[in-house]
Amino acid sequence: MNALMSSPGLIDPVPVARPPMPRSDGRVDLVGLTREAIREELERAGLDAKAAKLRAKQLWHQIYNRGAREFATMSEIAKPHRVLLAERFAIGRPEVVEMQVSSDGTRKWLLRSDDGQDYEMVFIPDADRGTLCVSSQVGCTLNCTFCFTGTMRLVRNLTAGEIVGQVMLARDALGEWPSQPDGRLLTNIVMMGMGEPLYNFDNVRDALKIVMDGDGLGLSRRRITLSTSGVVPMMARAGAEIGVNLAVSLHAVTKAVRDEIVPLNRKYGIEELLQACADYPGVNNARRITFEYVMLKDKNDSDADARELVRLIRHYDLPAKVNLIPFNPWPGANYECSDPERVRAFSMIVFSAGISAPVRTPRGRDIMAACGQLKSAAVKISRADLDRMAAEKSAALEFTQ
Ligand code: SAH
Ligand code: SF4
Repeated sequence: MNALMSSPGLIDPVPVARPPMPRSDGRVDLVGLTREAIREELERAGLDAKAAKLRAKQLWHQIYNRGAREFATMSEIAKPHRVLLAERFAIGRPEVVEMQVSSDGTRKWLLRSDDGQDYEMVFIPDADRGTLCVSSQVGCTLNCTFCFTGTMRLVRNLTAGEIVGQVMLARDALGEWPSQPDGRLLTNIVMMGMGEPLYNFDNVRDALKIVMDGDGLGLSRRRITLSTSGVVPMMARAGAEIGVNLAVSLHAVTKAVRDEIVPLNRKYGIEELLQACADYPGVNNARRITFEYVMLKDKNDSDADARELVRLIRHYDLPAKVNLIPFNPWPGANYECSDPERVRAFSMIVFSAGISAPVRTPRGRDIMAACGQLKSAAVKISRADLDRMAAEKSAALEFTQ
């Protein structure tokens, strides 16, 4: 036994329990709490252990399987109990500030939390699937230079309730209660909205556990994808504790370019990142890692870049596919999207090496449905402000290195 292990207090592996935050009306929102936490809340409200356990199970089913919004409709619970529950607890939904529908059917919501923070979610319907793009933070601490969210200050992490609440709101809007395995419109979830999910690990994990729960929202882990810009130390935990598909925002294959466009690369470099991908549990040819690659004119889109991408994927022996994303411009951005011929040529090089490299079709352009853009329409920020914020964040990142 070494000195550290024998000194209690230096390392505390037991997560500290955080009591749920009451809403402004004083009630506790049950959405986002684990089954265990709901049971504890019920005990705190005066139920004995056995009754709390049973009631927690009933509430879980009502909230996540039936989509109940009020206690009053829960007929299997005696009426006086429903009244008591409604006095202490709530079944919340994010407030909808604005909803827009694109000509291609993409829907985008601007949502507001109880404490007045705005975030967004996007639903993208396709012929064979419907994908909900979910946010994990209000803003982002990272500062990828091509991403509008990266220009925002991080306000705070979203709670597990606010994350799972996005999925529940989408189910409300699509009329998809009770949860059922067949004929759904909402079939897939991608953690690709605002924020870096692996910087809000616990809440993202707790929310996705509810989404995957058989008596919860009931979506298979194979239909959920978590996208990270490369928070290497959290990737193994994501694999072990969440186990969903992994997407990695690679975007560049040389240190110089990735350092510039994904500044987190200065902390966790390309080799480390690809090794963490190779070590990600459950990766095989049927469950490949997706590398996202935003196509930026004259920045990362040359034939040499494509060939280097192939070399790296082969070198780490990664079961991988590459998603080529046409850059979505925003007011004040310093990049242009690569020409379509360039994107095609890049895709062909990767594809002829036997690696799938589809070009993602831009969706919802008329409503600016790309990452972070709804807020951009609401909050106009000047070029000078953008530069100042970028400098501040860059300094903050240097500081944490
Ligand atoms: N923070 C996480 C997840 C959110 S971003 C991450 O970076 O992976 C989701 C995806 O949208 C990322 O691949 C990101 O690089 C991409 N993206 C951000 N801004 C974009 C833009 N203006 N045009 C095209 N893709 C963009
Ligand atoms: Fe944050 Fe992802 Fe945008 Fe980078 S691309 S600034 S990590 S949201």
